[in-house]
Amino acid sequence: MPLNFIANTAVRSASGQTLPVIDPADGQTYDTIERSNAADVDTAVQAARQCFEGPWARLSAAERGRLLMKLSAKVAEHADELAAIEQRDCGKPTKQAKADALALVRYFEFYAGAGDKLHGDTIPYLDGYSVLTWREPHGVTGHVIPWNYPMQIFGRSVGGALAAGNVCVVKPSEDACLSLIRVAELAAEVGFPAGAINIVTGYGHEVGDALARHPGIDHISFTGSPSVGTIIQQVAAERHCPVTLELGGKGPQIVFDDADVDAALPFLVSAIVQNSGQTCSAGSRLLVQRALYEPLLEKLGKAFSALRAGPPKMDLDLGPLIRATQQQRVRGFLEQARADGIATVAQGQVVSEAPASGFYAAPTLLRDVPVNHRLAQEEVFGPVLAAMCFDDEDQAVAMANATHFGLVAGVWTRDGGRQFRMAKRVKAGQIFVNNYGAGGGVELPFGGVKSSGYGREKGFEALLGFTTLKTVAIRHG
Ligand code: NAD
Repeated sequence: MPLNFIANTAVRSASGQTLPVIDPADGQTYDTIERSNAADVDTAVQAARQCFEGPWARLSAAERGRLLMKLSAKVAEHADELAAIEQRDCGKPTKQAKADALALVRYFEFYAGAGDKLHGDTIPYLDGYSVLTWREPHGVTGHVIPWNYPMQIFGRSVGGALAAGNVCVVKPSEDACLSLIRVAELAAEVGFPAGAINIVTGYGHEVGDALARHPGIDHISFTGSPSVGTIIQQVAAERHCPVTLELGGKGPQIVFDDADVDAALPFLVSAIVQNSGQTCSAGSRLLVQRALYEPLLEKLGKAFSALRAGPPKMDLDLGPLIRATQQQRVRGFLEQARADGIATVAQGQVVSEAPASGFYAAPTLLRDVPVNHRLAQEEVFGPVLAAMCFDDEDQAVAMANATHFGLVAGVWTRDGGRQFRMAKRVKAGQIFVNNYGAGGGVELPFGGVKSSGYGREKGFEALLGFTTLKTVAIRHG
């Protein structure tokens, strides 16, 4: 029965109510979390403020870095335990859950070494003046986290915020809290002062909303859906609170007919299958140049037919989706495709060991999806790849850019000039040429344009977003 974690202490919520924790593998309830409310958020913000103005303020950037490095080592020691917790909570296959725990280790390690390299400038100015800039932390930062990669998103968001000198109040998704509560306990064990990292669980419209509204929150990092991102911006705007938004995507994989198809194939599959397609940066649209369209679909069809979804511990290609409503959402998209005459090229299978009460979905490859169809425009957030065909570079660019999103894109071509032209013309926060995702890349700034959000997380760039710049002009004659 994991509780809220506020000021290094496990505490019940003010409401005294709980929410069920459901195992996506079989749909059964196996634990509870606290159903917190605005009073709990207030307690957490006060604890964070005391920390920020007290023990946290006395730490140098190097000392904060050492704490983060200790936390990185502690998480590494507990990587299997954390992976097992998140596996059950989110339905991740073993390999994915372990990769997520190790990514958390790496985020803390990266930001441990980065915080003391963050500094301001001196600016040449009028005679008799010295002007300098200081990068100061915002103060108490709020972090609203989704359910698809809790540990990874916590690592990049909270890791960067702490390194830059902030303290954190975290609202995990009501569908995936358990690993983050455990990480906060580990942080207390390695010496993070009370109030530096606080976790408050509960519903978005209760806890998330209260966090976004709280006058004691100085900056909000939101990762989640575009629709909730809009609400967060509106709420935060009322008190001019700065926001970083990491929202959805409809990533195009653009394959030209000179591409190395055999090299591309595993990426085209994994970019939509990883985490059962529940990835903001999933490569969910496949744009293929006409001469290669049929041969590539044939190869991809074989690969899709061989994919298997099943219980997380079987460590297959896919685990279950997070919850029943997500499963219904994916089914809804596929029913619509059928009704609209969109052809299925291939479908993987859900293995017989998967309980019928679990939230499984077979990976599906669809072809000739019209550019303006829902399947080419909206996030399915499931293992569904929508293939379509283009004739030339201009058409590829137009199709790639024809959604409201702009998070990640992949370009597959051997033509060096085209690699650069496409990288310039496709509107997205990250472009991958002849790869997709570059192995996760903790160092690589990440974020979107258009409805995929603004601001950047990951890499050194994130530290800038977690600070505010103060200009100091001294007239000394
Ligand atoms: P969601 O928007 O439903 O929820 C995200 C978080 O916001 C949860 O913690 C939720 O409880 C909270 N929330 C919900 N309503 C709220 C409200 N009114 N006020 C404040 N908080 C509220 O998203 P989800 O279903 O958890 O995650 C899937 C979405 O997240 C997809 O759109 C996906 O693309 C996006 N995502 C983006 C990134 C990225 O880095 N760009 C990464 C992962 C997921």
